[in-house]
Amino acid sequence: MKPDTKLSSLAGIGPAYITRLARLGIENLTDLLYHFPFRYEDLSAVRQIAEIVEGEVVTVRGQVWEIQNIRTRHGKFLTKALVNDGSASITIVWFNQPYLTRVIKVGVTISLAGKANIYQGKLSLTAPDFEIGDLRTHTGRIIPIYPETQGLSSKWLRSKITPLAPILTTQLKEYLPPGILRRYHLLSLEEALIKIHSPGSLDDIDQARRRFGFEELFILHLAALMRKAANEARAGVKLAVSNSQVNAFIASLPFRLTSSQQRAAWEILSDLKGGRPMNRLLQGDVGSGKTVVAAIAAYVTSLNKMQTAIMAPTEILAQQHFETLTTVLAKFGVSVGLRTRSKKSGPADVTVGTQALIATSAAFDNLGLVIIDEQHRFGVAQRALLKSKGSAPHLLTMTATPIPRTLALSLYGDLDLSTLDELPPGRQIVKTYLTPPAKRDKAYDFIRSRVKLSQQVFIVTPLIEPSESLSTLRSATQEFERLKTEVFPELRLGLLHGRLTTKNKQLVLDQFRDKKLDILVTTPVVEVGIDIPNATVMVIEGSDHFGLAQLHQLRGRVGRGVEESWCLLFSDSLEEGVNKRLQAMETQHLGAKLAELDLALRGPGELYGIRQSGIPELKIAKLTDTALITETRRAAEDYLASQPRLPSGLTQRLEKLLETPTSPD
Ligand code: ADP
Ligand code: MG
Repeated sequence: MKPDTKLSSLAGIGPAYITRLARLGIENLTDLLYHFPFRYEDLSAVRQIAEIVEGEVVTVRGQVWEIQNIRTRHGKFLTKALVNDGSASITIVWFNQPYLTRVIKVGVTISLAGKANIYQGKLSLTAPDFEIGDLRTHTGRIIPIYPETQGLSSKWLRSKITPLAPILTTQLKEYLPPGILRRYHLLSLEEALIKIHSPGSLDDIDQARRRFGFEELFILHLAALMRKAANEARAGVKLAVSNSQVNAFIASLPFRLTSSQQRAAWEILSDLKGGRPMNRLLQGDVGSGKTVVAAIAAYVTSLNKMQTAIMAPTEILAQQHFETLTTVLAKFGVSVGLRTRSKKSGPADVTVGTQALIATSAAFDNLGLVIIDEQHRFGVAQRALLKSKGSAPHLLTMTATPIPRTLALSLYGDLDLSTLDELPPGRQIVKTYLTPPAKRDKAYDFIRSRVKLSQQVFIVTPLIEPSESLSTLRSATQEFERLKTEVFPELRLGLLHGRLTTKNKQLVLDQFRDKKLDILVTTPVVEVGIDIPNATVMVIEGSDHFGLAQLHQLRGRVGRGVEESWCLLFSDSLEEGVNKRLQAMETQHLGAKLAELDLALRGPGELYGIRQSGIPELKIAKLTDTALITETRRAAEDYLASQPRLPSGLTQRLEKLLETPTSPD
């Protein structure tokens, strides 16, 4: 048996099990060893039967004195045994497993684990786990409980992994550097594997989990730092930055920059003139004014006679950026072009576009800067692709999904970070109310009263599936019909969803913008960046299906004008936890805080975009474990500083963990 032995070549694991194991991503012996328990049951207390109290979870060991099957009145089988350990006897009961009398014979020694309860007036163990003889796989110790799949129980996994671990681990090579193990007090691989599957104490579990959690994050950081180093080793376009021209541009804007916009802009400009390719993430809440910061960078690039490409996630948003940028840049003689599936202007100094932009390298013969808006919507591969066009252009990615700093370190550890942590002055807080079903009619009345004042309303239909699927569309259409015919027959309603052609989307949006519609019913597509200042009410149906960061983005569609604005969160869920989570929206208006809350309450998987970000699913480490993230980051930095090349074992582990090529771009 070798660590890379395929399970299919082992006797005793049939094809049905091979299929089930594959569902858990387990193909060879090493995979099996790395299938870690997600919790444990402490059955290590072996008790004298005479001392057992009702309600305790215990293991008992004794001799089988009697065992027999009894047929109940309903024609079912009951297996009843009497086990004695010298101190007393206890009744054991199993249901519908008559074969047990063939497995468990009178006179054998048996271990049984389960909860002591009263059955037919006697202290009993009902349907306990058991094992005959001296075995201690399922009883008499701290029992690992594994992630299961249909037809593959934790017990089955335990019966395979427990005996295998001690044999196999000796053949696995430690891949963490000895210095790291020492300095951070980590268990060796062998010890950690044994302890995670067969812990002798709760402390063993903690230590083993610390080792593997540390390892996951350490490796993640190493990968990010290496990408960063590789990027910095490339020659970047060195741009000249004229302070006076930049200041003149800033002075031409219709508003004063906030101080965080100032700071971010100069951070970016200092990258542009640095001679290394910039790789910076600009994060800032919805409405914090990222576009104009991007415009400053694009302006400087054009002054250097180089092109800028700006990629937006949707055609609508590309169109909007195109208009904004034309307004601010054209008067400085900078040409702005649009490149989407339906529109292609000729080469320009600054080109805004959607994914279609990527496909047309010809447009950029002199690319100096690439800007990616709402970057969490783009996969790593896409980003790398656009970046690879031209010779190492500067890269600025922007996101409104506020990512807590530590999380950003592990997700985007290869990027430098600029943050807009304030909104332009005069912005109002969007009054937010969690609206239970009973208040729905009142909410509709409220909407009518706002429409009477010539204000406009968004109604976001439930998110059925993460993508704009057919069922999402169907539910949006139904809700639209219901609202139009039953609730607001006197008002003008429009429907926007992702399956409309761009032309029709634009048409509906234009109607809404031109106040020819009172209410825009929309699937969650509206989330990405549209700007309609006359809209003052945002209604979100099924709000319990959204993450807080997402709700915050949706809410950001209103409160853009001078009028007071509202966000009504409809939820049919009566669960207290859900409502508690949503209540945070009523009191908290900072995206970054909401993201942190989301992260703590629902975990990183729920912060959308993380799936595509290239981060692997971590088995042990929690992306909420700030202390460990910081510690491992430092460990990775120190390690790389002393040793720029990784040992091969570590590289292999890194590739396995990331499951994608780790070479930079
Ligand atoms: P986001 O960060 O969400 O992309 P935008 O760049 O779309 O935000 O800006 C939102 C709105 O705020 C725009 O209408 C923009 O013109 C305006 N804006 C940006 N910066 C300022 C500022 N410093 N003062 C006032 N308004 C600003
Ligand atoms: Mg934006």
